[in-house]
Amino acid sequence: MNAIAEENPPPSLATLPSDDLRQIMWRFDGRYELHMLVQAARAVARGPVARLVAAGTRNSHEWTPDKASLLPHFDQSGITAAFLDPEDGGFIAGPKNLALALIAFELSWVDAGAATSSLAGNLGLASIHERGTPEQRAKYAAGAAPLKPGENRKQVRAAFALTEPIPFVGVETGMLAGKVRVADWQEGREPLLQVDKRGRFITNMGFANVVTAAVESDDPRLKGSCMVILEEGDPGVWDRGTPTKKLVHQLSSTNDPVFNLKVPASRIVGGYTIQDGVILPNFSHSEIIEAVFRRTRVTVGLMTSAKLLSAIEPVILYHRRRFRGGQGAPGTPRYELGIQQKQDALHRLVDVWATGEASASLGFEAARLFDQLDPLEKEKDRILAAKKLTGRAAFKELTQAQTAALAFLDSKPAAPPGPLVQFVLLDSVAAVLCPACKLWNTGHGANMMREAVSLMGGYGLTEDCPGFLGQKWMDAQLEATYEGPEAVQRLQLSITMTNELFLAQFQQWIAQIKRIASERPGTGACALGTAMKLWLWTLRHVQTAADAAGAKLYHKTRQGVTFPLADALCWLLAARQFILDVIELETKGAQNPALAGGLPGTVAFFTDLCHVQAARAAGEAGRIAAEIVHGYNRHPAWDDPGCPACYGAEELTALEGIIPGMDASARAYSDVAEPGEKHPPKAGPCVKCVGLEPFLALRAKLDTCLTGCRLAKDRAAESLTKVMTREALDYPS
Ligand SMILES: Cc1cc2nc3c(=O)[nH]c(=O)nc-3n(C[C@H](O)[C@H](O)[C@H](O)COP(=O)(O)OP(=O)(O)OC[C@H]3O[C@@H](n4cnc5c(N)ncnc54)[C@H](O)[C@@H]3O)c2cc1C
Repeated sequence: MNAIAEENPPPSLATLPSDDLRQIMWRFDGRYELHMLVQAARAVARGPVARLVAAGTRNSHEWTPDKASLLPHFDQSGITAAFLDPEDGGFIAGPKNLALALIAFELSWVDAGAATSSLAGNLGLASIHERGTPEQRAKYAAGAAPLKPGENRKQVRAAFALTEPIPFVGVETGMLAGKVRVADWQEGREPLLQVDKRGRFITNMGFANVVTAAVESDDPRLKGSCMVILEEGDPGVWDRGTPTKKLVHQLSSTNDPVFNLKVPASRIVGGYTIQDGVILPNFSHSEIIEAVFRRTRVTVGLMTSAKLLSAIEPVILYHRRRFRGGQGAPGTPRYELGIQQKQDALHRLVDVWATGEASASLGFEAARLFDQLDPLEKEKDRILAAKKLTGRAAFKELTQAQTAALAFLDSKPAAPPGPLVQFVLLDSVAAVLCPACKLWNTGHGANMMREAVSLMGGYGLTEDCPGFLGQKWMDAQLEATYEGPEAVQRLQLSITMTNELFLAQFQQWIAQIKRIASERPGTGACALGTAMKLWLWTLRHVQTAADAAGAKLYHKTRQGVTFPLADALCWLLAARQFILDVIELETKGAQNPALAGGLPGTVAFFTDLCHVQAARAAGEAGRIAAEIVHGYNRHPAWDDPGCPACYGAEELTALEGIIPGMDASARAYSDVAEPGEKHPPKAGPCVKCVGLEPFLALRAKLDTCLTGCRLAKDRAAESLTKVMTREALDYPS
């Protein structure tokens, strides 16, 4: 190392990321109410929640007094009221997606079952919050507020009952066995309904006293499906059912309940009208589910991100201390670094960390987006109502807004677009980001939690593992499953990601990432931008291409095409958002004196993590795209003489122009077989014939765009050997 380099060593990561830094990255630095909420949720997570997990409270299926003791903690800390509007006893005005996401993140840092208890209550109320009548909102939301001193009422604890015993509702939410009939309807009076619903795996059911249940009409006097509010104490059967013998999230309560209750028709969520003697619910059960899940799924995605990021410190602590007390003395690498002397262990932890960062970035971006979208959605509803537009007419109005939005993106006029155009622009992105973060954060996140567990050796598989990593690995699989498993998210993405308005914005993101690549090549944005282009090319290709038998490639029954493309997109979106968050940190962080000293080191480290993640994302997207683009063409027989144009001199010359590095040696390889080896297949779909040249060029370019990504990984790995940690975790384990 030369003298100048010694005097000016590159900045390196000093400590693990602080709250100040996270507030900037996840864009809530100016929101002090959220800083307080994070601290409050953290105190519950790392205090009572951690103590219960450490004491083995997870080792039972029943809802025990110990588990129930968490509810008052949620109430007193503000976790329960964070969901509520101020008029209902809450303390956050306006949209709360980011607030709820932060709570779930903090609780899941220790135990996602605790997070699920709080989330499921919100889920039960969310159907009423999103689509309920003003009276329903006033009654149930205000009822859920924690009791004030001197108040004497039963606090509403809610559950959400959609899933039914097999063979009914699961992934397929339309197959409802739950029924609603008119029990009694006297002239001029409100009808009475008979609700018959069995649930499977219903969270909070061990203690909930209000349930929103999805049911279908079994009576010609009531049309379609709806959600109905059930209360403990309604006449009939309120059977909480048996606890589910789950292997995960055991701090939450899950049961298979049975209800057969008589309720007034005013309990139909969102109300109803009566036409020609028939009750018409204002919202079907699927409309309500859609409104609810599109928000709450983001929160679930962030639960797994928290687990991954929470694994970093315990793994570092374990690795560093692994060989202490043996032959090595303090100051020797064996003593100080332990397993961190081994590159693979460091590299794998870098991968876990990069995944955690990218998934958190994606999830928090989605949460913020819904905070922006919520008021626009209300405005859209107001405009449509004022114009008296419903059904098809409303759809037509929004289609016109979509056309205007595309024109807006094209021409970028100085004036901001109108609310409907703003709505469709944001909505098209939200409809992608929500399933993307639910799918990728939890699905890939669960795989990466296994990596984290493996880095703890046998300890990882014990209840004593610091940070509860073994439980978190299994828990992650539930996050990938409930509120719709991965197949549901892929299905949704396969539709929303082809919305031209999303794709037009995606095209703009490619240009943005390419600009970033020239300004900050160390982020890996170059590889990411090329992979984004490749993904878009592949989508456009499969939308019109057919397979070897002439069958359409992009079709809803062809999940082998649509699902992997959805997966590939998620990788890209997460890597992109991580880069944007690190740029935000670099730009805004400099203005925060609390960060000044350590900022350059943290930014340098995160830039390397971005590079690692961008390279991995590009690799995944490239692999998936190649399998799809080539994989549906029939492979020629090995000794098939083939298409005369393929691999002929003319073809190779054409490829030389397209693929950098494709030169005479490639030509020689293609033409000459090894002695004893059969000649490589000459046949098959000639690349020129099927028009894949741009794809081949992008694929080749993608490889060269990976330049430097392993150097970045080496640097990030080295940082892990130097970063300062605490002596012990700040929660019991
Ligand atoms: C601990 C826990 C808590 C829960 N809490 C609640 C709750 O509070 N309220 C509630 O209503 N529900 C709850 N659930 C239910 C949960 O949401 C469902 O389990 C989930 O939606 C999947 O339904 P299923 O289990 O019936 O899976 P299935 O419908 O049987 O699907 C099984 C698998 O088959 C495949 N598959 C199914 N359909 C398709 C398709 N169309 N395309 C491709 N592949 C497909 C997928 O791989 C899928 O994962 C909870 C579940 C658990 C385990």
